[in-house]
Amino acid sequence: MPLKTFDEYVALAEIAHGHMCAGQILGLRLAIHGVNLLQIDDPAGKDRKRLVSFVEIDRCATDAVPIVTGCRLGKRALKFRDFGKVAATFCDLQTDRAVRVVAKESSKQRARELYPQILDKNEQQMRAYREMPAEELFDVQWVRVRLGPEDMPGYKAARVVCAQCGEGVNFKREVVQDGKPLCRACAGERYYEPL
Ligand SMILES: [Zn+2]
Ligand SMILES: [Zn+2]
Repeated sequence: MPLKTFDEYVALAEIAHGHMCAGQILGLRLAIHGVNLLQIDDPAGKDRKRLVSFVEIDRCATDAVPIVTGCRLGKRALKFRDFGKVAATFCDLQTDRAVRVVAKESSKQRARELYPQILDKNEQQMRAYREMPAEELFDVQWVRVRLGPEDMPGYKAARVVCAQCGEGVNFKREVVQDGKPLCRACAGERYYEPL
């Protein structure tokens, strides 16, 4: 079991996220379920180097994941894959196991069934998502995640300078074209247009 009570996690999440909402309750439950399945007792404490988490959406639920797991983007332990799904995968580096937890499509409907008398949808879902058994809230898949050494939190390597723009590229994110190292932007993956 994680060290903190659910209410303690709720309080921490509210501070980090700026408000409390159904998405956060769902995200806390999802992350707690993930670490429980991996049998990691103290994810944000003594076991903090064991976990890497992948999140699949940039919405409220995602902000709850670091609260429980301790995995942060700036520590390279939180990875974002923009699939638009309320889902996350928790990788235990120590046992080389990974579990993907995804919110069921039926959870909103179930919240309506459980608390039809609560008219505010957010309130209705917050209440239901707190109380529903994890099996009703989530689908679980054991998976393999291929994490290269360059994806690990503690990875160290020399920085490469892009042959075109001159900007430094870390963590082997360069692309070699015609024998020259290019950053991904210069290699054609630019998401912005210089003005
Ligand atoms: Zn929110
Ligand atoms: Zn470049």
